[in-house]
Amino acid sequence: MKAATVKISSLALKHNIQKIKQKAPHSKIIAVVKANAYGHGLKFVSKALENDVDAFGVARLEEALILRSSGIIKPIVLLEGFFSAEDLPVIAVNNIQTVVHNRQQLEALQQSVLPNPIRVWLKIDTGMHRLGVSLEQTDEFYTQLQACATVDKEIGFISHFSRADEIDSDYTLIQNERFLQATAGKKGERSIAASGGILFWPQSHFEWIRPGIIMFGVSPTDTPSDIYGFTPVMTLTSSLIAVRSHKKGEPVGYGGIWVSDKDTKIGVVAIGYGDGYPRNIPNGTPVWINGRRVPIVGRVSMDMVTVDLGADCREQVGDEVILWGKELPIEEVAKITGLLSYELMTKLTPRVLIEYID
Ligand SMILES: *Cc1c(COP(=O)(O)O)cnc(C)c1O
Repeated sequence: MKAATVKISSLALKHNIQKIKQKAPHSKIIAVVKANAYGHGLKFVSKALENDVDAFGVARLEEALILRSSGIIKPIVLLEGFFSAEDLPVIAVNNIQTVVHNRQQLEALQQSVLPNPIRVWLKIDTGMHRLGVSLEQTDEFYTQLQACATVDKEIGFISHFSRADEIDSDYTLIQNERFLQATAGKKGERSIAASGGILFWPQSHFEWIRPGIIMFGVSPTDTPSDIYGFTPVMTLTSSLIAVRSHKKGEPVGYGGIWVSDKDTKIGVVAIGYGDGYPRNIPNGTPVWINGRRVPIVGRVSMDMVTVDLGADCREQVGDEVILWGKELPIEEVAKITGLLSYELMTKLTPRVLIEYID
């Protein structure tokens, strides 16, 4: 019997990449695999995707180095750039590309002596106001980077949308327009679209797209991704470790926050917040057992959750329980819990076993 396990489907990954290519047929793909590939396993996912994508995107130099030591030879982009000048020789030697978003990074490049020039993406702040040089600074940074001996002459342009998941908002078009203006007349490839841009804003695809969550078959909104033709890569499962008769009027679990209004059977599932399943979910959040939805009742504990199976249930100890996956979209669980699907996936703890299927 298996306790908390994520099953990861490489077929679903491949399917989603093909869907992404249909949505953005003229763009190259930077597959974003930061945060352990959104909890799916960095090495496995990168190996599974390497032949289908053009580059990988990560948030930390450590993540890039894991990719290189696993034998990945495709380009790797540090999406937030490097954090200190000492990283530059490592970046150069390992043939890693970096974003440049501030003056400290520019100066570090200008003052370094490196064995080979580094490929750089200039990050432009088009309205997210998190990272990037301002529209007014773009020309100056571009000129300085072009003149910099440690920088490869092929400089890319990168930016990021803050509201691409809101299909009714004009803000994405404003950001896209600013990106176009800031890069007009400069040679260099452009990239602004992540999953939201890929799905909803075709005018933002440009030369490179940067899919993250949609590659894993999860939508950047709270609408399940199957309506866009995607398939979840991850299924979070565990097992029933007890099926207990429970009397009307009796509480279940810490704090006794749920009291049964009928005689029933309570199932105990071997997963809890110690696995990264959120503790603060409301009672009634569904799990999937033997082809049906069953509500969680009582508090989530560190290692267990309790579900109301109903008096006439046929469930037995050992039966599989699906917390999210194809049968029960993670977007739905996210919406009920007030969390993001991104958070649910990346919060899973190392105790959860990863099983790679097909
Ligand atoms: C995380 C990230 C992405 C991928 O975002 P998704 O919404 O998961 O597709 C793309 N670009 C940058 C800069 C990121 O940080």
